[in-house]
Amino acid sequence: TEACLGEIEGAGALNAFVHKTPEIALEQAKAADARIKSGDAPAMCGIPLGIKDLFATKGVATQAASNILEGFKPEYESTVTQNLWDAGAVMLGKLNMDEFAMGSSNESACYGPVVNPWKVDDRQLTPGGSSGGSAAAVAADLCLAATGTDTGGSIRQPAAFTGIVGIKPTYGRVSRWGVVAFASSLDQAGPMTKSVRDAAIMLGTMCSHDPKDSTSADILVPDFEAALTGDIRGKKIGIPKEYRLDGMPAEIETLWENGIAMLKDAGAEIVDISLPHTKYALPAYYVVAPAEASSNLARYDGVRYGHRAKLGAGEGITDMYEKTRAEGFGPEVQRRVMIGTYVLSAGFYDAYYNRARKVRALIKRDFEQVFAQGIDAILTPATPSSAFGLGEMVDADPVAMYLNDVFTVTVNLAGLPGISVPCGLDAKGLPLGLQLIGRPWEEGELLNHAYVLE
Ligand code: GLN
Repeated sequence: TEACLGEIEGAGALNAFVHKTPEIALEQAKAADARIKSGDAPAMCGIPLGIKDLFATKGVATQAASNILEGFKPEYESTVTQNLWDAGAVMLGKLNMDEFAMGSSNESACYGPVVNPWKVDDRQLTPGGSSGGSAAAVAADLCLAATGTDTGGSIRQPAAFTGIVGIKPTYGRVSRWGVVAFASSLDQAGPMTKSVRDAAIMLGTMCSHDPKDSTSADILVPDFEAALTGDIRGKKIGIPKEYRLDGMPAEIETLWENGIAMLKDAGAEIVDISLPHTKYALPAYYVVAPAEASSNLARYDGVRYGHRAKLGAGEGITDMYEKTRAEGFGPEVQRRVMIGTYVLSAGFYDAYYNRARKVRALIKRDFEQVFAQGIDAILTPATPSSAFGLGEMVDADPVAMYLNDVFTVTVNLAGLPGISVPCGLDAKGLPLGLQLIGRPWEEGELLNHAYVLE
């Protein structure tokens, strides 16, 4: 813990840790030492972690990287972080992220952008988003692991951009209680770690059935670490043809081919599959996610939490709402609220929101059909490119940024578990990640396939 606190002090330029909690960390570390000495310590005991700013941490600033939550210190702890502290883990502080987890480059935070510890010459790169602070902190050895959340790829894409492991579990595996809501039917928390084994251990600690989250599943949490046998002989790996995009960089093709060869060498059978509705996933996601976000973000009204705008003479409550939200939300969040409100409006609900929901059901069915054919896991690239430059995408058309999620959003729409595993470097020397998608509730098997690729 002391070593990590020292590293964090020296790594201010990355802008990963935005609220540091050294006193809490040292107190928890002391308690963990005592627990380890007593001989009754789970694997997470004494492990120093960074926590994404989206998780409510009791008495510790929790802002979702937004000015609208300035000064907010929750009265309660999220279930996921409570599970980690109960197992003896140590909180080093809160990590930067895209505002309300909306983004793919960690450039929409009220704290300013996160810098990827990987560089090409002296060019600064994004760590990806929205869990960019988590990814940068783990990759730069500021903590041993971090929590992330993934609504459309926010664990897997930054993991791929920084050369670490990130898993989004099956929807319902991890409690959403105390995690600031973005799109409730898609949001899941997960670990971001240096290895597949760490991911297995930390995921097992984060999971629990939680009556405080009505979508939390009452299902056994198996020993994910025990599933890491490295034996995938006879397993069927699906390669979906729809993920072979036109104009995909040659190195992404090569990465994919290398992954296929590794799984084949380990005794798996490679099967060409089709997920025909894949091309509709991105548009469906960018209707469903903003729709849910516009509803979830209605609670930030200047009355209950954080920031409240100052009013001039003669201004009333409607002015207060408008001014507070105009001042508190950044441009990407405002864009999502406007899109969401539009697609949910009476005149357009059927044309956009309802249609997107139907498309979502078809995407889910595509996966169900290939799993019913006996496919054990699906292999795809995690991202369409390696990390891009800071500032390069954020000023472009927002849709260019949304295209980063092309391989990851399908997994959230279908509620499936997905993992990103680092698999080598591109010609510029930057990390690349492969994605494996598993059957629902089969995170152990998914982690075991990832273990072979690692
Ligand atoms: N990049 C996607 C978005 O901006 C996904 C974000 C996420 O998974 N939290 O919506």
